[in-house]
Amino acid sequence: MKQSAGAGRTVARGEVDFDTALLGTSFNAQDPGRRPALIVQANDDADVVAAVRQARDQGLTIGICSGGHSWAQNHIRDGGILIDLSRLDSIAIDPAGGTATIGPGCLAGDFNAALVKHKLFFPVAHAYTVGMGGFLLQGGFGWNSRASGLACQSVIGIDVVLADGTLVHASETENPDLLWAARGSGPGFFGVVLRFHLRLQPRPKFVGMKIQVFRIRHLEAVMAWADHVGPSVAPFAEFQLVFDRKAMGIFAHGIQVLTPVLADSWREARAAVAFIDKSPIRKFASFTLPLLPVSLGMMMKGGERTLFLPNTRWTADSMWMNTPIDPLLPALRRIADTQPAAPSHALWLNWNGPATRPDMAFSLEARTYFALYGGLRGSTVANPADESWATDHMRALQEHSVGIQLADENLGRRPAPFMAPANLARLDALRLRYDPDGLFNPYMGRVA
Ligand SMILES: Cc1cc2nc3c(=O)[nH]c(=O)nc-3n(C[C@H](O)[C@H](O)[C@H](O)COP(=O)(O)OP(=O)(O)OC[C@H]3O[C@@H](n4cnc5c(N)ncnc54)[C@H](O)[C@@H]3O)c2cc1C
Repeated sequence: MKQSAGAGRTVARGEVDFDTALLGTSFNAQDPGRRPALIVQANDDADVVAAVRQARDQGLTIGICSGGHSWAQNHIRDGGILIDLSRLDSIAIDPAGGTATIGPGCLAGDFNAALVKHKLFFPVAHAYTVGMGGFLLQGGFGWNSRASGLACQSVIGIDVVLADGTLVHASETENPDLLWAARGSGPGFFGVVLRFHLRLQPRPKFVGMKIQVFRIRHLEAVMAWADHVGPSVAPFAEFQLVFDRKAMGIFAHGIQVLTPVLADSWREARAAVAFIDKSPIRKFASFTLPLLPVSLGMMMKGGERTLFLPNTRWTADSMWMNTPIDPLLPALRRIADTQPAAPSHALWLNWNGPATRPDMAFSLEARTYFALYGGLRGSTVANPADESWATDHMRALQEHSVGIQLADENLGRRPAPFMAPANLARLDALRLRYDPDGLFNPYMGRVA
């Protein structure tokens, strides 16, 4: 096979370090068994343009990875070229203009650290090592996103290589269709984004977290309370409930109520989490910590040391729900009872988003976001049901689902809606126009 003309390293299937290069792109330590024909480790724009032209000329499909945090390992497909953009990790901040331009391989934590120096903020992903490329394209529920908006809402431009090998800029006024699609199509985007131009926000003055932990026997009471208070929780307080067999502080099966707050003052933050101290179920809590100031960087690293351990074989799945809590409680109890060992966990997230969003591909959400992250470590699996825990339980809950979030997609195993039908139809039409030969890999599964 002819190799890419750019300076980036290419590794062909059959070469000794092919598997290392391929599996090294993925946060998920699972080997999906799929193998592309060639990996292009791009160093610059020219490498990417050359790789896309090679794919076009030779009729090869294209997979793309930036930070490689797709739980489903969407970028690893059979055949075709995988373009690895992890080396394109530049960060350029314009403090006076309140904007930044970043490469897709830039990590959430590195971008956040660079912004701290300028007292600026961007709703980056919750874990340090998530790549900004995939995160921004799929929507991006970042820190403070209930107040600051989904991350893709702050994408004001992209530089993108199209299927015909041209490098174009897209913004609200130039190729606006491409920007529309880049705000939420995630693993179904039909181009290679080389740079994201972002609008920044002033950095909230107070960043901290309130933590309360319950034993799992209180699940029904805790979930009923959370569902009831959720709609009135301030938008700048995230209200997450995490079921974990090694819950913080009790090292036993429990529910961690984690409430990060990004506010303009300590006083405002304290008022936003007061509902936890005043709750009717506080007497059941194993412990409640006061609101603690913690930097975002520490919270991001902490999450990866506890919930999102690397070197783990992950299966994630997710669901948007509008159903009130009562009919869900038996299913939540079954999920807890069958929950594999940590780091497997369940996340119930109080979403209750805004009434309207800008017109963009991202178009499906609901009052509650529920996700399961099955994480297996070691080479043996004691209980085979652990391997499909996330998928099986989401399938069982399907009647309550209005769709999934592409952040935690599992479309290859459980196809589900992820966009409003009209938006998906528009995306399909754009894909046909910009990528008529279907060079870029489509979603791994889908339901209209
Ligand atoms: C530990 C962990 C924590 C997470 N936390 C959050 C969170 O807080 N909020 C949230 O919303 N999501 C979160 N996610 C989900 C994450 O945002 C998505 O998996 C996202 O796709 C990861 O981006 P990436 O660049 O690392 O992934 P990749 O696997 O590199 O990309 C995913 C897909 O996006 C497409 N893509 C990526 N880059 C490009 C590009 N430059 N041009 C064109 N297409 C591209 C490709 O189809 C690719 O397969 C988390 C995931 C993990 C593993």
